[in-house]
Amino acid sequence: MELLKNKIIAQGIAINEKVLKVDSFLNHQVDVPLMQEVGLEFAKYFRDQGITRVMTIESSGICPAAFTALALGVPLVIMKKQLSCIHCEELLSTPVHSFTKNKDYTLTLSPNYIQYGDRVLIIDDFLANGEAALGACRLVEAAKATVSGIGIVIEKSFQPGRTLLQEKGYQLYSLARISKLGHGVIEFA
Ligand code: 5GP
Repeated sequence: MELLKNKIIAQGIAINEKVLKVDSFLNHQVDVPLMQEVGLEFAKYFRDQGITRVMTIESSGICPAAFTALALGVPLVIMKKQLSCIHCEELLSTPVHSFTKNKDYTLTLSPNYIQYGDRVLIIDDFLANGEAALGACRLVEAAKATVSGIGIVIEKSFQPGRTLLQEKGYQLYSLARISKLGHGVIEFA
């Protein structure tokens, strides 16, 4: 998606060889018109998949996921991150290792917001090692629903997430694929 790539070139900051900072338009301040375009693009790509629900992980995935849900005309559900899980017996839950914080958290989903037979599109801001996306898939499948697609705003293609998701047969669409990061270097695949 050219608009997104241009934004990444203009405002993305490669902190090191593994982490891209996009606080100015995605994670902290949000470029709302850009997120609307992101949502329209995901909706166009996954339009024929019979999506019944868009799901994301709090908090950075919420904005692109909300515009995707709006464009598809389906509900948005936000999976929650909890350090410890007090009332977990009512929730579907799975452990996930956080790429940015380098610690584990529990990803949770209320069974009230997913139904047997749902066709779910998972949207997230970044794909690195695939832990978050795979955790989200585990929760959807624990509810006996189907992961009908995974939409990623920024994929770091030099990390193993894409391969892991594709090995499991998930349909993956990333709007920007980064092949290399370094001090002052952002290269696209
Ligand atoms: P994964 O689970 O695929 O290893 O990492 C994905 C999650 O980590 C995303 O939900 C995102 O919040 C965070 N993340 C991974 N890489 C980056 C990055 O380069 N920059 C930022 N801002 N977040 C990242």
